[in-house]
Amino acid sequence: MTTDTLAPYSEAMERYEPVIGLETHVELGTRTKMFCGCVTTFGAEPNSQVCPVCLGLPGSLPVVNRMAIEYTIRIGLAMNCTIAEWCRFARKNYFYPDMPKNFQISQYDEPLCTDGWLDVGVNGRTVRVGIERVHLEEDTGKSLHVGGATGRIHGAEYSLVDYNRAGIPLVEIVTKPIPGTGADAPVAARLYVTELRDLLRSLHVSDVRMEEGSLRCDVNTSLAPRGSAAWGTRTETKNVNSLRSVERAVLFEIERQAAVLDAGGRVKQETRHFHENTGTTTAGRSKEEAQDYRYFPEPDLVPVAPPAEWVEQIRAALPEPPSARRARLRAEWDLSEADMTALSNAGALDLVAETVAAGASPADARKWWLGELARLANEDGTELSALGITPAQVARISELVAAGALNDKLARQVIDAVLAGEGDPDEVVKARGLAVVSDESALTKAVDEAIAANPDIAARVREGRVAAVGPLVGAVMKATRGQADAARVRELILRRLS
Ligand SMILES: [Zn+2]
Repeated sequence: MTTDTLAPYSEAMERYEPVIGLETHVELGTRTKMFCGCVTTFGAEPNSQVCPVCLGLPGSLPVVNRMAIEYTIRIGLAMNCTIAEWCRFARKNYFYPDMPKNFQISQYDEPLCTDGWLDVGVNGRTVRVGIERVHLEEDTGKSLHVGGATGRIHGAEYSLVDYNRAGIPLVEIVTKPIPGTGADAPVAARLYVTELRDLLRSLHVSDVRMEEGSLRCDVNTSLAPRGSAAWGTRTETKNVNSLRSVERAVLFEIERQAAVLDAGGRVKQETRHFHENTGTTTAGRSKEEAQDYRYFPEPDLVPVAPPAEWVEQIRAALPEPPSARRARLRAEWDLSEADMTALSNAGALDLVAETVAAGASPADARKWWLGELARLANEDGTELSALGITPAQVARISELVAAGALNDKLARQVIDAVLAGEGDPDEVVKARGLAVVSDESALTKAVDEAIAANPDIAARVREGRVAAVGPLVGAVMKATRGQADAARVRELILRRLS
């Protein structure tokens, strides 16, 4: 796909210093759109959530969604920004088929939030990412290119447009250039977006689903020769739609730009597209300058002047930041940093917290959510939180295991049954008769049968070779269809053969 020459990463790092920057678009989870009352439900019938305002019909007038302003202030405060006492929306003029007004209402030189920061842990150190601005705008509609192989406009027979997304409030979060991450630049980019996603999730302002496009990233990358005071020319890789892709896009751009510079060439300032299948980028259009958009203050809207006491109310209601919460839970749960990262990455932190709150030990809660349940979610291609089992049910199952009423194998069957809608763990255990066989006489009988059927092994155990007992335990577990406590069975066999 790419014909670009690439420089090996480690060699590129010897000669060049990368600077990255990220622009993230977040669709706010408000019930209605930015400037009209249309609902914003994802996945509705195309063009069923539209009205004259978001279709840009003549004579229609926008009205600002107060909740979108509140959400944006919440984001700005959580990212340590200054909140403007007075700001305006601006018209950004350009033509695009999925934007029926031929302009986008955005913010230009008067954004709502400016000059903040977000701390990101990168390989054991903290990188303070400067935040240039957080502003509010409206999303565009969505084009669907039909008949081609790739779903892109190139090669398509015709295109359809869906305006359901047009006018959904969109927050743009722009970082300042991030120097000094060195060879960690690709990882730092991914971890910034991860931290931002967790923060936004904790603020309850967006469902932040990259796969549904409610969190989208543009990644800027430039290289400068090591020791040079000036920064290099940057490229902007558009719409990078997964955390892994953020990292790959930066990595690829570093290798590509290093090869261009090595050959004595110049990096072109341009927009590039990331290709998920190959992990490469290709040139898009050369980047517009701000003046190309003919920005001017939006004449149909009054300025936004959030009262100071309102801003302070929002600040006072901010939740504990995810980084502080992680540190607190890690200490409470006595888990390693790697364990906590695994929980965060799996989206299991809240689930484990709720399972612990419902009575499970942190180790058990972690074991079930990251083990069996993560496996099942993966198999289904769904998220952990979308599985049909509640933290309280998981806590009850681990309680039954801890009490010896279930072993792990039976517990997995209970999980399957709960997911299949057969009810709470206790109901499943009762209905399916899934309890550990603890009836001493039944177990003793199975033990005696196993010993009788395997005289050679029994003889070896009698001689003191305790490690040989495995097949006997296996035979009893088989005879009880897995419904015995293996440790208890082992104990019974050894007592019998002593
Ligand atoms: Zn509308």
